[in-house]
Amino acid sequence: MTDRDPDPAGGRLTVDPDARDGRYHRQSLITWWEQPRLARATVLVVGAGALGNELVKSCVLMGVGTVVVVDLDVVEDSNLSRCIFFRSSDEGRPKAAVVAREAAALNPDVTVVGVVGDVRSTVGLGIVADVDLVLGGVDNREARLHVGQACWKTGTPYVDGAIEGLQGVVRAFVPPDGPCYECTMNERDHQLVAARRSCALLSHEELITGKVPTTATTAAVIAGIQVQEGIKLLHGIAADDTLAGRGFAFNGLTHDSYVVSYPRREQCLSHDHYDPARTSPVAGDASFAELLALGRGALGREDVTLETELDVAIAIDCGSCGTRAPLLRPLHELRPADVRCPACGRDATPQLRHRIGPDDDELLARRPGDLGLPPGDAITVRHGLDRWHLMLDGGRPPIERLRAVAA
Ligand SMILES: [Zn+2]
Ligand SMILES: [Zn+2]
Repeated sequence: MTDRDPDPAGGRLTVDPDARDGRYHRQSLITWWEQPRLARATVLVVGAGALGNELVKSCVLMGVGTVVVVDLDVVEDSNLSRCIFFRSSDEGRPKAAVVAREAAALNPDVTVVGVVGDVRSTVGLGIVADVDLVLGGVDNREARLHVGQACWKTGTPYVDGAIEGLQGVVRAFVPPDGPCYECTMNERDHQLVAARRSCALLSHEELITGKVPTTATTAAVIAGIQVQEGIKLLHGIAADDTLAGRGFAFNGLTHDSYVVSYPRREQCLSHDHYDPARTSPVAGDASFAELLALGRGALGREDVTLETELDVAIAIDCGSCGTRAPLLRPLHELRPADVRCPACGRDATPQLRHRIGPDDDELLARRPGDLGLPPGDAITVRHGLDRWHLMLDGGRPPIERLRAVAA
């Protein structure tokens, strides 16, 4: 990533007269352009809405070798004015599947994989670690925060986009230096994320409130800048020439645009990084008992605990009638029906966990997938501050691991 001249184009757009003709000829005329870098790259696009359609379109046209697009929604008629890959006949079909199908037809050189589901439920940390770049096209801070933290833990560059009306912003976060996504959040952002978390028991439909005005043109501008920044990052262009740690704000009404630098907040809670040297691949179907044994071996001691990336509800406790009922589901997937007491019908309290120890008999026979953890996720083994990360299904290409959840 960083073995490039700091400013290979000398700040100017110059042409390479020896570039061969062909599909990528015109872009390859840019002297620093290396098409093989793009052909080797895997880019994860989170969201298949207005931004996601444009993000995938540009990646595929430019010859990014593998594009994975993840989204949990289905196509609605209100998407049709902003999404190049959707037709009215696609209504009701999963957005990610439609985008993958249509985008693949644009360029036979590119593999496009559609993953239907919430990114938290479908894309494990090990998959984020294995992709070269994440492009964000989501509409809420909670998803950005999750993706931003996963990227920081794994050292994966993250270029986020946001649009509203004729305005938009592109921000790039390049670990381990500089600010992360959470560093850019203000007090109000934190309040909104907390509010959404406390509303985790609302249905997905109920959360889609306050629809934001967006247009195809703003989506194209912002997604275009995102992919352009991503391409620069994939080429290892000098940080000063990218948006790393900065934001590009665009106002289409007044044609104002400017770049803002974000400070890195040292007290930020999202700067955790998983040392690749303290990581090992494990079978995706290992039980927690087996993972515990592997973890003991990795840390060389007996008293270790396992930590999951997600908070998981392992039971509900009814405060009204005292009933306890087992439940295995990540917090973000809980719906009102999941926390209804089976005995008295009143709302019960989910018992949340992200640690599993040797005394958790009821969980040790389970596998990460039984708890609703995504394929390719990480299980961290801990003793005090000493950690080791077991990457589920590690050693297999991310695309293979995604087959289980691909559309
Ligand atoms: Zn931060
Ligand atoms: Zn009850």
